[in-house]
Parts: sequence; structure tokens; C-alpha cells
Amino acid sequence: MINMNQLHSKQNYKNALISFNNSTHEKRWKIFKDSHMEVSKGRCPICECLLDGQNIRPTNSSQPHTLIATIDHYRPQSTSMYPKLKYDHLNYLLMCSDCNNVYKENFFPLYSNGNRREQNVSSTACIKQEKPLIVNPIYDIPFNLFKIQFKIDENTSKKVLELSPKHQNGYLYEKAKTTITFFSLGSPKNTKNPNVENFRVLLLNKHYNAFKNILFKLNGRKLDDLVLNDQKSIYSIIMENNLNNFGFLKSILLGEYEDFT
Ligand SMILES: [Zn+2]
Repeated sequence: MINMNQLHSKQNYKNALISFNNSTHEKRWKIFKDSHMEVSKGRCPICECLLDGQNIRPTNSSQPHTLIATIDHYRPQSTSMYPKLKYDHLNYLLMCSDCNNVYKENFFPLYSNGNRREQNVSSTACIKQEKPLIVNPIYDIPFNLFKIQFKIDENTSKKVLELSPKHQNGYLYEKAKTTITFFSLGSPKNTKNPNVENFRVLLLNKHYNAFKNILFKLNGRKLDDLVLNDQKSIYSIIMENNLNNFGFLKSILLGEYEDFT
């Protein structure tokens, strides 16, 4: 998951906000897409797929589906949820079309069935007391919530790079676990759409392949534990393969990972 904490302080975002405030277009949240893409370096902040138009998933119909950049309403805009946040720019989050339209939809659970305040909510400031169970990489720090697991996928036997909760229990554990399960970023898998699910396993396998050389060199250690030559060789793998735009990278280099392969 990619840390988006810098988003609201970026000049591109501030410029987009001016255009947004002057627009009456029904879907004017799309104005923010480029500024979110700048911070995520062209990846979906949730599943870390590249949003370059190259991710094409086969479908059951004759038309394949290209994963595209979309702006999600973090708190759903549906009339039964948070309709007053439809045009609150602090409620927008970049996602690929699979994360947004297939996995998340109008899902927005709260911790311990906490009180939802949709009846009176007119801005994100009013809902500070809610405890959402979906991680928002703009406001949460993904590194504090997740660690990395290199695993063998049970159904396909493919090697995959997955997220797992960093905490053992409590709200932050539940928040990480719900996010992982719902977006299928780790087992157990959500099987409501097998076609999407198969594609997600392939994506996690692609992430594994991107990091397998680093995993091999680290061999259960963190970067600081290696001799200088091995550290240099890891930096060259990162630079040669453009891995520095991955959210996973920090966790892996700091030793916040487990290898079950
Ligand atoms: Zn995604």
C-alpha cells in the first residue's frame, strides 16, 4: 500500500482544488486524478498495480477489461451512506477500477459496529470519531499497519507478495485485516468474482517477482544488517527495476517481512 500522506500539501493538488471549486460538472472529482497519480507515482495506492493502461484483465465476455485510474469516494456517496460527502474533496482517493468498482463498491464497515453518523454528516471534520475498518493511505500510515509476507498461494501454488496486519489485536489489527481481506491483498481470498480474483493473484505474483532478488539477498535480514557490497547490489536492483515507487519497499528494507516460500 502506497503512503499518500503528502497529497494535500502538493501544488498540483491545490491547483486542482481551485478548478474543482469552480466546476459544476457532475463528476468533478475526476479533476483530482492527476494530482493523486503524481503522489502514487502512477500506481493504485491500494493494490500497487501500474495505472499505465497496460493492465488488461480477461473477462467472461469477449471484451477484456483494462484497469484504469478512478477516484473513489472513501466514504461511499450512496444515499444510504454519506450522500453529503459526494463533493467533499477530502473524501476522494485514487484507486484502480478493480479496487474501486469490484472490491470496495459501497463497503464501509466501522470498528465494533461503531455509530455511523451519516444522518448529520456534512463534512469529513464531523466524522473524526468514526473508526473505519478500511485503511485510507492519505490519512493512515501504511507502514504502521502492515508487514509483508512472501508466500505460496494455496489455490494456484504461485509465489505471491502479500500484506499482513502488523498489530496482534485491537482496532489497528482489525482495520488492517479487514482491508487485506476485502481487497484480497492476502489470504483468505474474496471469491465473489473469480475472474478478478485470478487476476489479483497474478498481480501479487508479479509483485513477488519484482522483489524476489531482494528477498534472496536479504535472506530474513534487514538492509542495515548486510555488508556494504550487498547493500549496494540491492540499491542497484531497486534503481534498475524502478522499484522505488512501491509502497512495499520500506517494509522490506526495514526487515518488516516474513518469507514462507
Ligand atoms: Zn488497485
